[in-house]
Amino acid sequence: MREEFVQQLSDLLGDDQVQTSEEVLRSRRHDYWVLNHLRSWRQEPMEMPGVVVQPQSAEQVQSVVRLAGQEKVPIVPFGLGSGVCGGVQASADSMVLDLGAMNKVRDIDETNLLGTFDAGCNGLEAEEAVADSGLTIGHWPQSIAISTVGGWVSTRAAGQFSTAYGCIEDIVYSLEVVLPNGDLVQLGKAPRAAAGPDLRQVLMGAEGTMGIVTGVRLALRRKAETRAVSVFHTSTLSAGFDAQREIVHCDWLPPVMRQYDPTEARRNFRDFAQDDHGLLLMVHEGPSARVDAELAAVGDIAQRAGLEPAPDAAAHHWMESRNHVPTWEDLFDKNLIADTIEISATWTQIESIYDDAIAGLRDLEGIISASAHSSHVYRTGLNLYFTFVSAHEDSGTMEASYLECWRRVMEATARHGGGVAHHHGAGRLRKDYLVHDLGANGVSLLRTLKTALDPDGIMNPGNLIPDA
Ligand SMILES: Cc1cc2nc3c(=O)[nH]c(=O)nc-3n(C[C@H](O)[C@H](O)[C@H](O)COP(=O)(O)OP(=O)(O)OC[C@H]3O[C@@H](n4cnc5c(N)ncnc54)[C@H](O)[C@@H]3O)c2cc1C
Repeated sequence: MREEFVQQLSDLLGDDQVQTSEEVLRSRRHDYWVLNHLRSWRQEPMEMPGVVVQPQSAEQVQSVVRLAGQEKVPIVPFGLGSGVCGGVQASADSMVLDLGAMNKVRDIDETNLLGTFDAGCNGLEAEEAVADSGLTIGHWPQSIAISTVGGWVSTRAAGQFSTAYGCIEDIVYSLEVVLPNGDLVQLGKAPRAAAGPDLRQVLMGAEGTMGIVTGVRLALRRKAETRAVSVFHTSTLSAGFDAQREIVHCDWLPPVMRQYDPTEARRNFRDFAQDDHGLLLMVHEGPSARVDAELAAVGDIAQRAGLEPAPDAAAHHWMESRNHVPTWEDLFDKNLIADTIEISATWTQIESIYDDAIAGLRDLEGIISASAHSSHVYRTGLNLYFTFVSAHEDSGTMEASYLECWRRVMEATARHGGGVAHHHGAGRLRKDYLVHDLGANGVSLLRTLKTALDPDGIMNPGNLIPDA
């Protein structure tokens, strides 16, 4: 990184907001993607960004982006680095734009149920701020305490309560964005618009390639009056899917609806699982009368689908342990590598994808566990969240085996017509599989949008956009 450029940044922002110490560069060089953690653990040579800047306002972001544009310096936005697909991987000639100093709650409007946040606001802190007014964002990714509001938008995140409250794109009201040319735009003005295409969608899921989200206004909701749970043993996945489908098709909407296959039921609910059964777990929220009616209705539907009631304690156990963050290095130390892969599909596709992907994983040398659960349900279908673990005598074979697991699940999903990415985004890991979702012409459209917004390709190069 040229010293002159670093000096120009200091002139714009002040020395305190421009970091070049090895400690800071190292801490911002990549996200939570397991492969980057593996490479680091194996002490493989890894690049670090040339500089990390921490602007404090949208105006400062604009001036930094304009300078980087003039000097053709790549910009890698960084929220809290909890992304799991390699969306942050900074090269030595790049500048990491860390949103960490833009972390304020700007406004909470209790009448219109709107909360406005700096993009770098920690997710849990944003939720706690609105909770003080008896409100909730209703977006609960497992990573809520280690991710930012701007990161949620940039990766099209989904929270655990999405079945009733929606994923982030259903919760975003408006976005404040600095475009790659330094212009500031406000996208989204009113509760609903027919003012041309919804430009917010270009940024939601752009993973830092189309601009920098500096502010986010979210539609809030009042905290639920009542919460209840229900849990059932599922003798087959099929019976569980039938019950889930019937529940949402009858317009019952438990915010949380998760079905675990027998492997995951045994692993996650040892004290509650039954023999070789899976587990269907629901959390119901809302006005008491509706929750009571929903509990009765899902009980009937589950009985008709042949499911047996399981202890509520299983759901309470999940509520208490649901935001655990695993440490990859603990697994590497045991010669294991693991990851999760989320996909989505219609009700008629989902079982074939499960069968095909699990068989493909189990067929692979070294695999000691391959399993799945569904955690986000829609009228049209649901997601599956695969987990695999593979064991190796030597850590040198882990990377190739890991990539093969991904290939098998991506291709099994595509073979049966499913969508290859439900909520973790694409990053560097999944970008070359996006063609399955977008088609060749869709990929070309994505490239056209990218080139129009960022003709010099300075925004997070190498990320998201499939290789030519
Ligand atoms: C244990 C664990 C559990 C997880 N659970 C969930 C879950 O339940 N649901 C879910 O959806 N995800 C989950 N994730 C994934 C991750 O937390 C989300 O993708 C999250 O939205 C990333 O936020 P972040 O602030 O950490 O972003 P980062 O990791 O810092 O960045 C993610 C991407 O967005 C870009 N970016 C970040 N901020 C901005 C910005 N302001 N403007 C433009 N681009 C930006 C980055 O360049 C990068 O490409 C989990 C991750 C972990 C480690």
